Amino acid sequence: MYANKLYSTMYIPIQNNINCEPCKNCGTRPVVEQLPKSKFRLLCPNCKGKNATASGLVDIEKWNMMNAKHSIKADGVGLQKAG
Ligand SMILES: [Zn+2]
Repeated sequence: MYANKLYSTMYIPIQNNINCEPCKNCGTRPVVEQLPKSKFRLLCPNCKGKNATASGLVDIEKWNMMNAKHSIKADGVGLQKAG
């Protein structure tokens, strides 16, 4: 009888031609984790829960924002006034 895995965490590598930032903590390229109920999240396989996007769609933009070397504030909140 084969063992029935209740939880088999599924990590899907991200294609090399997709531009995504490495983990800000350890520099590892993130993977896509498949969650129950057809949800996904991006996470660092080393940092796991410490560095992951919210579950839902595969949100590479969000990941890139979270892990960008230069914090990009698209809404202008982080802009410093010159002069
Ligand atoms: Zn990491």
